[in-house]
Parts: sequence; C-alpha cells; structure tokens
Amino acid sequence: MPIATTNPATGQVLKTYDPMSDEQVDSAIERAHLAFRQLCDDTTVAQRGRWLIAAAELLEAERDETARMMTTEMGKTYAAAQAEVTKCATACRFYAENAVRMLADEPADAAAVKARRAFIRYQPIGPVLAVMPWNFPLWQVMRFAAPALMAGNTGLLKHASNVPQTALYLEELFRRAGFPEGAFTTLLVGSDAVDRILSDPRVRAATLTGSEVAGRSIAQIAGRELKKTVLELGGSDPFVVMPSADLDRAAEVATTARCQNNGQSCIAAKRFIVHTDVFDAFADRFAARMSALRVGDPMDDATDVGPLASERGRAEVHAQVQDAADSGATILCGGELPAGDGWFYPPTVVTDLRPGMRMWAEEVFGPVAGLYRASSYEEAIEIANGTSFGLGSNAWTTDPAEQERFAADLDAGSVFINGMTTSYPELPFGGVKNSGYGRELSAVGMREFCNTKTVWVG
Ligand code: NAP
Repeated sequence: MPIATTNPATGQVLKTYDPMSDEQVDSAIERAHLAFRQLCDDTTVAQRGRWLIAAAELLEAERDETARMMTTEMGKTYAAAQAEVTKCATACRFYAENAVRMLADEPADAAAVKARRAFIRYQPIGPVLAVMPWNFPLWQVMRFAAPALMAGNTGLLKHASNVPQTALYLEELFRRAGFPEGAFTTLLVGSDAVDRILSDPRVRAATLTGSEVAGRSIAQIAGRELKKTVLELGGSDPFVVMPSADLDRAAEVATTARCQNNGQSCIAAKRFIVHTDVFDAFADRFAARMSALRVGDPMDDATDVGPLASERGRAEVHAQVQDAADSGATILCGGELPAGDGWFYPPTVVTDLRPGMRMWAEEVFGPVAGLYRASSYEEAIEIANGTSFGLGSNAWTTDPAEQERFAADLDAGSVFINGMTTSYPELPFGGVKNSGYGRELSAVGMREFCNTKTVWVG
C-alpha cells in the first residue's frame, strides 16, 4: 500500500510519503535502543509521568486540529475524532498517576519460599515494535505507548499506510512532551519491512492491532525470533437481547455499538442475537434507528456515519452483504451502494442468515448488522460462541441469574451486560481465539512488556 493521506469522503489523494530506507530504519532502531538505556539509567517513573502529563496537555490543547487531521485521513466523524483525542489524554493521565503503584515491587511470602526476603519486580524489556491500524489512529497507538513509556520501554511505530500524518504527529507529540530523542519513533514503512525490523536483535517484542492475516504473519516472525507478542485482532462481537431487556434502550445502544466509527471498530457489536419472544419488537426498533442515521460529510456536526476508510474496504463490505442477499438472506434496511464520490455505505440490517454465508463466519468491517433469532438462552449462547472470534460480547437482560450465566458462558475477552463494549484505561482489553492474545490497558497491559523478575534473597 502506498504511504499516503487520501480523504475517504472525496477519494482525493492529499499527500504521499516515500518509505524510509533500510539505513534510516536501522538508525531509528539504534536511537530507540540508546533511548531505552537512557530511560532505564537516567529517568524515574515519576519523571516519565511528568512527560506523559505534558503529552496529555498538548493533546487537550491541540484537540481540534488533531481531530481534523484524523477525520481527513480515515473518515471518522469530527465529533468522534475529538472524543478520541480526549480519551488519549485521559489514558496518559491515568498511567502517569498510577504507574508508580503498578510498577512497585510486590512482596512475596518469604517464609514460604525459604528466603529472608522475596519479591516480584517489573522491569522494562527494551524497544517494542507497534504495528497499528487506521481505525482509531491515535487511541490504538496511545494505549500501547502510554504504559510502555511509563514502564521504561521505547516504542517503534509502524502505523497503517493510510494515516501517515497521524503517525508523524505521535512521534512529535512525545518529543515535545519531553521524552528523549528515540523514546518513540515513527517508521514510515510498508508492512513488507516488518520482518526485517522484528528480526533485529535490538527490537525485543511486538504488539499488533489489526487483521488476523497480519497477526499470523507477525506471530510467525516472532516465533522464529523467540520474541514476545501481544495481538489484538478482529472480532465479530455478539449482542444478545433477552425478553427481560429494555428493548428501546437495547435498540438505541445496538445502533451506536454497530455504527460507531462508521462501523469500523473491532469491538463493534456485529451479530445481534435476539430471543424469539422479542425478536420482531427489537428488529422493528433497531431497523428504524439504523435507517434514521445520517450518512455524509464527516466534518458536518449533523452526520452520524461518515465514509469507510478505503475503497477496498467498502467493496469488501458490499460483497459480504450481496453474498448474503444472493443466498437468501433478507435485507431489512440499507444494502445499496450509493453513487457519487467518497466511500460511503448505508447502515444495513441483514437477517435470515445461515451457515455458509460469508456474513455468518466473517467479520464485517462497516455499518452492517447481522440479526439472528434464538429460541432459548442455550441457542443464543450457541450462536454467540459459534465464531472463530472472541473479542468483546454484550448481553441484555435484567435477570440477575441470567447475567451471571452470560458472564460465565460468553467465550470472549470481555462481557458487557446492558451496555456496549468499550475500552477503559482501568480495565484489561483483549481477546481469545482468533481475536488474539495478551492484554492492553490497566496494570495487566503495562506488564505485558515487562520482565516480571523474581528476586529471592537468602
Ligand atoms: P491490517 O490490514 O491487518 O492492518 C493493520 C496494520 O498491520 C497496518 O499497519 C498494516 O500495514 C499492517 N499489516 C498488514 N498486513 C501485514 C503483514 N502481513 N505483516 C505485517 N504487518 C501487516 O488491518 P486493517 O484491515 O487495516 O484493520 C482492520 C482490522 O483490525 C480488523 O480486523 C479489526 O477488527 C482489527 N482491529 C482490532 C482491534 C483490537 O483491539 N482487537 C482494534 C482495531 C482493529 P499497512 O497499512 O501498511 O498494510
């Protein structure tokens, strides 16, 4: 993919970049390696926390222009982009305020291990390669970078090729906040450069947020090189609605959960599994709300859903919908490719899905909902878990016993009851099955790239 900013609302190429040469990449790795030593030897967690607070202040001060840049590069609504900048500032503050506690030595039971003193220490491991997607171009990077830098690691960012301006902004942000040269570096390279970078002995680990294909490729390289990876991959989250649910509220949240970020979120609810007793009532409400969303210019405050990020992405979404329609599924709303410039796609609800259709098994990365009927709790769970993915999950029920059952039975990295899956700095985030492994956020995420060192003193 060329490294370029192309406005998805118009299809216009605005700026292109030459990829960095191998020599430029090598010197960036060397700077990251030297900066790691500098962070370890010359800085404290408290000092790094002050730099992270400075980054939060810059983000807050530059919210609007940063949001405009993101909207121009990948098409999310301006309001959503503003919220993303604010969320990044919040995460910086969270880690600045909590890292001392999260990284403190943890005493162990010395007598039980026949020591005078025993404890666990969390130490940084070195430069970490971050391969990141375009859909939350600031947030996906920040949720890696803030804890990694606080722990004393350095970051090498290979961002998605369609968000180069956001990628360069991130490097500048950390530099202006006070982090030393090389602490966080953007590598403007294509995905073909990843093997060489991850094979470099100075690069100690990798984190990827992206597709299953990219995840398998990076895991393979990391396996060969024996390096730690965290993989945040795709999802096809279930959103189960049971008879006791508040249907109006469930339909309202379902619409947001499916169409946030123009339908391009890993943790978007994608499969709506509704108990047969309330299926028609929910379907009517949901289709009405989906049809009422305004699709258009992402910079316009009145717009709910902007364009998809790429022409290829839109073609893929439409092909998945058409495949379902051609095989006998029913389209309750949407499903028509609009004419005109930009990669817009209407909010769409598809029902009567069956195994064998692409939408049954694949992630749909656009504002398209699959609606499934379940005759019982057991069938709802069977459909919900009947996927290769396991990222987030949602269940709507006011019955406390049923809530407990969903929490236990949904096979996913998170379960949200009567709400939509959201990431919070305070809570671990990640998936199971083909949605990846490892966790980001909270203390758990910060420690993924730490050496959890046992210290035993006799
Ligand atoms: P993608 O193609 O995998 O791209 C993500 C990143 O990986 C980009 O930087 C891309 O670089 C790079 N990449 C692609 N193929 C690669 C390969 N073979 N080796 C090394 N790097 C490679 O993902 P996408 O389709 O743009 O993004 C959407 C996917 O990301 C969806 O599946 C979504 O669910 C997932 N996602 C997951 C999470 C999560 O937290 N679990 C969050 C957001 C998105 P180029 O741009 O240069 O190709």
